Order: sequence, then structure tokens, then C-alpha cells
Amino acid sequence: MHSEIPPPDELSSSADERYRPLFALSPQPAWVYDRATLRFLEVNEAAVQHYGWSREEFLAMTIRDIREPAANRLLDEMLANTEGVSHHSATSSHRTRAGRNLHVEISSYPLDFLGRAARMVLVHDVTDRDAASRALAASEEKYRTVIEQLRDVFFRTDPDGLWTFLNQAWTTLTGHRVESTIGTGYLASVHPSDRRVLLDAMGPLLSGEGDSAVVEARYFHRAGGYRWVEVSIYPTRDESGIVSGTMGTLRDVTERRAARDERQRLETNIRQLLDASSEGIYGLDSEGIITFINSRGSGMLGYDGAELVGKSMHEVTHHSRDDRSPYPLAECPIYRAVREGIPCEVSDEVMWRKDGSSIQVEYVASPVRQGSRLSGAVVNIRDITARRQTELELIVARDAAEAASRAKSDFLARMSHELRTPLNSIIGFANVLGKNKPDTMTEDQLSWCTRIATNGLHLLGLINDILDLSKIEAGRMTLELSDVKLDALVRDTVAELEGQTRDRPVLLRTTVPEGLEPLRSDAARMKQVLINLIGNALKFTEKGEVNIVVESDASGRPTLVSVRDTGIGIPADRLDAIFTVFEQAESTTSRRFGGTGLGLAISRSLCELMGHHLDAQSAEGVGTTMTVRLGSVPDSSPRLTPAVGMPVIARAFTPSDPLAMSEREGPLALVVDDDPDARLLLGQLIAEEGCRVVGAESGIEALSLARELMPDIIFLDLHLPKISGFDVLRILRADEALQNTPVVIVSVVGKESHPSLAGAAEILDKPVSREQVVQVLERWLPGWVR
Ligand code: ADP
Repeated sequence: MHSEIPPPDELSSSADERYRPLFALSPQPAWVYDRATLRFLEVNEAAVQHYGWSREEFLAMTIRDIREPAANRLLDEMLANTEGVSHHSATSSHRTRAGRNLHVEISSYPLDFLGRAARMVLVHDVTDRDAASRALAASEEKYRTVIEQLRDVFFRTDPDGLWTFLNQAWTTLTGHRVESTIGTGYLASVHPSDRRVLLDAMGPLLSGEGDSAVVEARYFHRAGGYRWVEVSIYPTRDESGIVSGTMGTLRDVTERRAARDERQRLETNIRQLLDASSEGIYGLDSEGIITFINSRGSGMLGYDGAELVGKSMHEVTHHSRDDRSPYPLAECPIYRAVREGIPCEVSDEVMWRKDGSSIQVEYVASPVRQGSRLSGAVVNIRDITARRQTELELIVARDAAEAASRAKSDFLARMSHELRTPLNSIIGFANVLGKNKPDTMTEDQLSWCTRIATNGLHLLGLINDILDLSKIEAGRMTLELSDVKLDALVRDTVAELEGQTRDRPVLLRTTVPEGLEPLRSDAARMKQVLINLIGNALKFTEKGEVNIVVESDASGRPTLVSVRDTGIGIPADRLDAIFTVFEQAESTTSRRFGGTGLGLAISRSLCELMGHHLDAQSAEGVGTTMTVRLGSVPDSSPRLTPAVGMPVIARAFTPSDPLAMSEREGPLALVVDDDPDARLLLGQLIAEEGCRVVGAESGIEALSLARELMPDIIFLDLHLPKISGFDVLRILRADEALQNTPVVIVSVVGKESHPSLAGAAEILDKPVSREQVVQVLERWLPGWVR
């Protein structure tokens, strides 16, 4: 600036005329004043323009006149300082003609002006510049205060990423002092795992690509732990547009992030919970629009994930009823839950799937409120298509089963009747024949007649039982009620059965109180029950006693009838089973004692029908007590459904026959079979071929007889109680004395059992024909057979 003016020593020379034009044309105010009088001697045009006085006015003034009076002391100082000084610079305050104060920098030089000692002054007005820098300083101060007070960190870095500026918030964030951080690298406080994120964000900005970046990173605190920080970065550029570093903010978002994480976690949890449900669950807003649906729900309806969200549930899935007639929205209970806040539970509607098919659903819609405002509903739906199908099938199956049961009962009733008629004549004729004189029939033939009659009676009993059962099952068993004299009934029944105790040390007793009132019951059915109970007691009691006890209350009304025996007893775990059709206490019972397992089932059903109840108490090896608790006949006899299938029969007791032994000479055959008739029949056939025959009803008996009598041939049934035929065969084959005795198996044997019968001479299937017997005897006892 000073260079725009010619050097002062040149002006100071007499060459002033030469430089006058330059002085005059200088854009900077300039003047010359008299050192002695301080009068202006010359001013240039720039001074006239800048200060507002005309040249003439200037030339009439002194340099004191362009200053505030207060500034005169400074002027005097300056004048003293410049005495004899060639070049002097200073700042000063001038005023203009208009009264404005100017802040100026002045330079002055000594000069000889038209013979007078003068100084030339060059003025540099810095009023505006100072004002600007003052304003800048003020505003910088203001912003600095603001920045320092902000909670966010404000930063600047140089192009190498070294901090050049940080506000105090940095210390709060990291615990490091700003002064000691400035000049260090921007990554130092960042969690190592997050440095890459920051590097990736910063890199492009520093290389001039991109205008800004926002990332989240963890910043360690000096005292431990870290904070999540949102880093916003902008590149800074110099005047020529080259990136000179970065600036930006660091904002602590730890809490915000924790809240967001928590929200996400909750959302995930709720979503997982919803998706884990086996029911479809969806939410509706107050317009019936789906806001969410769990995966089970969308799956049920054939949609993918959130495909349904935002749609009207009714329009999409609930538009038609089961019969495809339209389902008006206004009638939909779910919509009412949404609009009117009325909860509902519906179990017989359909919903339509995406593919156009329908599912049967059960649903519950619960209105949802926010405060007092109804905001929608949550609906649970369950696909009950399969259940409905099963229910239908069950109904069909039950109907079919009932029909089948009725048909079976009808069939049994008819068959029983058809069977009884011819059977009665068989029994009748057998009895007629049996009464013939021995001279018309051999003794054997007579005993066969008896057997025909006995077995016929047995069969008749069985058929009667089946008839009873089918009647009970079909609900057609009718009672003939009368006032039954129980004491007489018990005595009569006992008398009838007394014969069965013959040959056995069993005492049959009755204990009946005096003055018994009559019992309203069916005498014949009551007797049937008693025969069954007493028959069983006698059958299962080898020795001891069978006691029939009647008890009554104070008024003489009979309360119970019990049949107590000292027999083999019943295992505790079989006590319930024996009342079930075809069940016996042990699998060997029927072989040892005969029977079919129908009697108790029928007896119990009959008792129920008469309003009584039949129960059993028993201890194995000690005895059994069968108790009929006497009640009264229900007004309308309920149709009885027996516990399982069919109950039946009190069957005649069939004691085992004594050994049959033919007395003829000849080879000895041992016939082993637990069924007396089978023994007798086979024995007869063998005897007819000229053999002596001895029978055994069990494996043990067979072995002892075999060892004692050394038979020439043994006929062995396999199904024997206790020791089976297989065991007998094995023992015989191992017995030195008997190992060569031919053993003929006579049984119902599956081919798969043959390997275990390797030691047998022959295997014959029951029933055995005369021809088979002849062949076997010829083969094994050649020469003996007739
Ligand atoms: P059944 O006598 O024809 O086998 P029941 O229904 O009358 O059929 O009896 C069922 C089973 O209950 C019998 O086979 C027997 O095992 C057992 N049982 C019944 N009464 C007695 C009793 N008094 N002592 C021992 N066992 C008995």
C-alpha cells in the first residue's frame, strides 16, 4: 500500500513538481502540513473525497481540526515523537466533515514544502477492517461459548486425521483433556471393532469423494467402559477447494441405542411368542385392517408372512359363509368387536384361504382399547377342519357300531333260539336211550348216552347264557318282579347244588336270619345268579366249606347275600377282570376247571338290572367272598350296557373222570389228555384195536404212570395244565427207561411247533380218525393189532 506512493525522500527533494501528479492521483488520502503551524499546505483529491472537506476548507484548517479535541494529547505526543524523525507510523483517530470517526493508520515523512518545514502524511483508513475483525472476534467468542456449552462434541481434524479442534464435550465423552488430545489421531479412543467403520467413512471424505458421512461407533472413556457415539463428518476445504481436513460432531447415543435395542428385542420376543403359538393370531385396527398376523395364522390361510398386513381381513378371508353366500361385514362378530368393542367367541364358521379353499375355524375376538378409545381387536383362530372331520367320523363310527351291536344281538337271540330247539331233542333222546335196560346196550354205550345228555345240557347252558347276554346287550332283558322269599330261594338253590359236594370234603352251609322280609326282585334271575356264585365256589374249593350268608337290617329287610368259600382264591390284580366276558382269573383255569368266563359277567349285569350290586373279595389260597348288595329295582330299568361285550352262564360243574382202563390183554397204551371225553374217545379207538389203555389227565400223572407201568406206546396231548405236553415229551426222551417208547402227539399243533417235537414218533391233528389210529398202531406195535 505504501508502495503506491513515491518514496518520501524523492518527494522531499526539490523534485516535488515531478511527483505532484502522483500525489494528486493517489487513491489513498494524503496531505502535507506545516510542522510549525500544523496548517494543511496541500491535500489530495482522495482526502477531499474521504473526509468531506473541500481543498480550500482543508487549507484553512490545521491537523488538529480533523481530530476530536480529546485526541489532542495523543497528537502532541505524536508530534513530539516525530520531531526530526524521518519515517513514522502510528494509528490514530480522525473525524470527517460529517462527524464520523475514522480509525486510521498513518505514515508520515519530513518534507521541505515551498521552503517550509513540513511533513507529508499518508492515510490508510482501517475503520471497516477493524470493525469487521472486532465483529468477528465477538462472534467467534459467541460461537465458542455456544460450542463449549453444547453436549455434542464439535471437532476438526487436519487432512491426516489429527484433531485440530475439540470442544469441552470431548472431555465429558472420553474423560481426556482437550489440550492433551489435540494433535493426536482421531481413532485413538474408538473401540477397535468399530475403527474400520470410521476409516471407511472418513477415507472417501478425505480423498475428496462424498460430502458427509454418519456412522455409529463406540468411544472408550478413560475411566472405563464405552459410549455409543453417532459421528457426523464433513470435509473442510481451503479457498482453492482442496480438502483441508474434516469437521463434524460426536453425539452420545448410548441411551437412544439402548432404547432402540430394547424395542427391537421386545418386538422380536413378541414376534417369536406369537409365532410359537399353535393358534393363528392377528391384530386389526379400528377399521378392521390387519396390523399383524403370526406365521401360524398366515400359514393357516395360505398366505406368505406379512402379505395380509394392510388388507381388510373380512374382505380377504371372511367374505362368504360356509354355503358361499355373502357374509355382510355388518353381521361379522369380529367386525363388531372392532367397531363396538363387543368380544365374541365363535366355533362354527369358515375362513377362506388364498387358494379359494376354506377351513373350518373356531375364533375368539377380543377388542383392544387405548385408554378409553377402541383401537381394534386381537383375534385368535384355530383350524378345526380336522377335528370336525374326526367328530363326523366318530358319529358315523358310533352309529355303525350301534347298528352292528344291535344286529349282533338280534342274530345271537335268533341263533340261540334256533340252536336250543334241536339241542333239547338231542338231550331228550339221549336221556330216553340212557334209560334203556343194559341188555339192549353195552355198559360203554350206556355211559356214552349219559355223556351225550350231559354235554348237551352243558351246551344248552352255554346257549342260554349267550341268549341272556344278547338280551341284556340289546336292552331287551325284562324282569318278572315279585316279592321273593330270599330264605326259601337260597335253601332251594343250595339243595339243588348239594350233589356237587359228593366225594369231596366240602361243607355247604347256609346262614339265613329269622323273620326275613320278602325282597322285590326277579326270582328266576336271582336264582341264576346264586347258581353261578355257588357253582363257582364249589368248583374252586377242593376242601373246606362254602357258606351262603344272607344279612338283613333291623327291620328284617334283606341287605346282602354273600357266598364265601375257602377255595383257591383269586389274584388281586384279576378281581376286576373276572367280571368281564370270557375272562378267567388265570389262563389255566379253563383247563383245570372248565368254564368259559361268562357267568360272573352275566350275574353282575343281572344284579345291576335288579338294582343290586355284585362284588368280589378274595385272598389267594384263603378263599373268595362274592357279595350281592341288595338294592331295589330302579323305576325304569335302565338299558344295560355290559362292561365288555357279552357276559354269560352258570355252567354245570364237570368233575374229571376217573381213569379208564381196559382190562383186556395186549400192549399197553397211555393216553394223556386233560379232557376226559377226548381221553375216553381216543382210548376207545385204541382199545378196539386190541390194546390195553390207561389214561392220564396231566403231565405229572402221565410221567408217574409211564414210569410205573412202562407202556408200549404213549398218546400225548400238548395242551396240559402245569407241565405241558412239550415238557412231558422232553422228559420222556431223556428218561433212559422210556426214551425208546414211541410217543404219538395228538393235539392241535401248528407246523411251527414241529421242530420242538423232534422226539415224537408221529404227530396227529385232532380230531383223530379210526384209520389214523390203526395205521399208527400197525407201524409202532406191529403184530399186536387185530
Ligand atoms: P367260569 O367259571 O365259567 O370260568 P365265571 O365268570 O363264572 O366263569 O368266573 C370267571 C373266573 O373267575 C373263573 O374262571 C375263576 O377264575 C374266577 N372265579 C370265580 N369264582 C371264583 C371262586 N369262588 N374262587 C376262585 N376263583 C373264582
